[in-house]
Amino acid sequence: MEYVGENSFIKDNLSKFEAIMSQGNGYMGVRASTEETYTNEKRNTFVAGTFNRFDDEVTELPNVPDVTAIDIKLNGYSLDLTTGITKNYSRKLNVKTGELIRNFKWISPNGDEFSFSFSRVISKERQHIILQQVTIQPLTNGAEVKVQSGINGQVTNTGVQHFTEGEMRLYDNMYLQMTPSTIESNVDFAITSTHKFLQNNKEIDLDTQVVMKRRKIYLDYFLKLDRNECITIEKYSSIHTSRDNDKKVQGKIELAHFALDEMKTLVNMSFDELKAESVTAWNELIWDNVPITIDSDNGFDQLAINFALYHLHVMTPAHDNRMNIGAKGLSGEGYKGHTFWDTEIFLLPYFIYTHPDIAKSLLEYRYHGLEGARQKAKDGNFEGAQFPWEAAWITDGETTPYFGSADVITGERSKILTGLIEHHVTSDVVIGIIQYFQATGDQTFMDEKGYQIILEAAMFWNSRLEYNEEKDRFEINNVIGPDEYKEHVNNNAYTNYTAHWSLGVALDVIETLRNKNKELYDELDKLIDINTLEFNIKSNIDRVFLPQSRNKVIPQDDTYLDLKDIDLSKYKSQNFVGGLFNDYNPEQVNQIQVTKQADVLLLIYLFENLLEEEEKVASWNYYEQRTLHDSSLSLAIHSILAADLKEKNKAYNFFVKAAEIDLGPNMKSSDEGIHAGSLGALWQTIIFGFGGVRALDGNLRIEPNLPKEWNKLEFYLYWQGQKLHLQINHDKLEITNETNSKKVDFVHNKEVYSVDGSLTVKL
Ligand code: BGC
Repeated sequence: MEYVGENSFIKDNLSKFEAIMSQGNGYMGVRASTEETYTNEKRNTFVAGTFNRFDDEVTELPNVPDVTAIDIKLNGYSLDLTTGITKNYSRKLNVKTGELIRNFKWISPNGDEFSFSFSRVISKERQHIILQQVTIQPLTNGAEVKVQSGINGQVTNTGVQHFTEGEMRLYDNMYLQMTPSTIESNVDFAITSTHKFLQNNKEIDLDTQVVMKRRKIYLDYFLKLDRNECITIEKYSSIHTSRDNDKKVQGKIELAHFALDEMKTLVNMSFDELKAESVTAWNELIWDNVPITIDSDNGFDQLAINFALYHLHVMTPAHDNRMNIGAKGLSGEGYKGHTFWDTEIFLLPYFIYTHPDIAKSLLEYRYHGLEGARQKAKDGNFEGAQFPWEAAWITDGETTPYFGSADVITGERSKILTGLIEHHVTSDVVIGIIQYFQATGDQTFMDEKGYQIILEAAMFWNSRLEYNEEKDRFEINNVIGPDEYKEHVNNNAYTNYTAHWSLGVALDVIETLRNKNKELYDELDKLIDINTLEFNIKSNIDRVFLPQSRNKVIPQDDTYLDLKDIDLSKYKSQNFVGGLFNDYNPEQVNQIQVTKQADVLLLIYLFENLLEEEEKVASWNYYEQRTLHDSSLSLAIHSILAADLKEKNKAYNFFVKAAEIDLGPNMKSSDEGIHAGSLGALWQTIIFGFGGVRALDGNLRIEPNLPKEWNKLEFYLYWQGQKLHLQINHDKLEITNETNSKKVDFVHNKEVYSVDGSLTVKL
């Protein structure tokens, strides 16, 4: 269950496959554009964290000069699958090895038939390296072959050019190099490529000609092949930038030399050797370390989680804590490479429980972002740190764009308000920190960074509260909650409850520091007047308005339950998102009881003990009907909550739909990139939903809810530094502490169990 692919070449589906078969290693992401180019392709290479701002637009991750395109001309005809005849086409990504493979036969317009095979690997072992291999064999006649390949800087982000042209150089008649810089953020890039031509495993020398054009450098290679004679082209490329944290180089020239020297060494290794070390790195990271095994008659579920695990590591810049995960990972221009609450709520749990070091790095990013968060708070006349709704480079602060898609009624571009009034992300960061601390016990992180973030976030929330004199309570008005279909609402339940909770967490932190770490208390007191903060929180916290249930349903905000109820069946059955906006504009949607994505239900999932069972069920029944799942973050949360409520069939159906967001039949859903948060949430559906794992009040809880479609589920978790192996079937849970340097307690069915070695619990 490791292949994602296609069996025919369909030009209209290029973007979908470019995204879902995209490759990378957290340092960079490369879409799976074919070697030959097509007019509707979306060829992208991104390097994490290299944001640049064009004109007065918000900063975005620039599309780096391309090395993946290779033009192959055979007897005068360029390889182009929209011409001639293509046979036995197969293109697949092996999500376990990270290798992209393509094979087919092509009859060119003049009737000559050729066999092609391609392989592409972005090294997981060497983060700067892109490897490509192409083998060509003429099957009917001999062929004159011309290969044109190099570095193309004529790429843009949908029209926006983020780079200077930079220098172009050819060294030793074989190494091509381009050294552009981003125009505003001044990040220097060195992009280097070289080629090898092999016959019968031996390198051959060819006639070449170098061509330099505006923003483009390439080599032309000429050769002749007899019928059935094979040629293999190997292209090695690398990308280095002045933002890299793995080397110390001074300036552009040194960077270029560094990259060139590295390439000169690299060519001594074969493609197969380089591929093999990358496969080993993938195995060590996931498949030999924390694999998930689903025993079921249906292979799709296993493939879906393998696909998610692969992409979770392709998208995550684990090497640098100044960088975070974009909402589309590194697989497309969607959301400009920006980081959202998607990280803490949807992606972080996977890393907390399987790669705590990476989870820590992702949270450290928020610490480095404190300066921007303070600025954002200040801009809104608030105190403390308010995390940006969209975040990019650590010092950028808020980066949400100002305008979005068309308003069907006014004909203007609608304003994006999330950057101004979607405030819950500041609590979401605190939720992420507490989840990390509960599972890892990483006191050092808390002392160095976590406590400070919590206190500064509390300062923001405290200053954000609005006193309603008439009702003698504190409200949070004029916000967007997780349901972005409701703008300018008052007292969004998710926002109020999580803000209130964050304030409570800050009080606990102050208490802990005062009693256990006076030194750190004093240090933080210099930055934050802790006594005043404590006094303010204590004066306000009990009067923060927490919306109470009406007929057992928690109101999403002050007005939601009284809005117009319309028949949503048309939109609920559409197999695309946002259909509502073909009929209504945002103002009208604001007046309808319709929800984009889990909002109250997300609150119930995250804070399991907040509500009575009856309230949970009533709220589920109420909101699920009114939720369009127009955000990819919705279905997985519904799956988990359904599992918690013992609605196993619903849970399974939601899981399958969530898995189909990228892997389903909709050929347009992933054009702008894969859905990062949804892939993290898919992991949560399996481990938290079906596996029933949760950290509750600092305790590990395991309450499996295996769907009837599965016979067994097997996975690994880290809890307090202990690696646990869990095997769950319908009548038992087997748990082994593989580290076993200390006992692990967990709660099941209200009883506490202690694992010292192995333990089996009857279900
Ligand atoms: C969702 C947000 C999410 C963003 C990025 C939006 O459509 O409503 O919750 O953070 O996409 O994934």
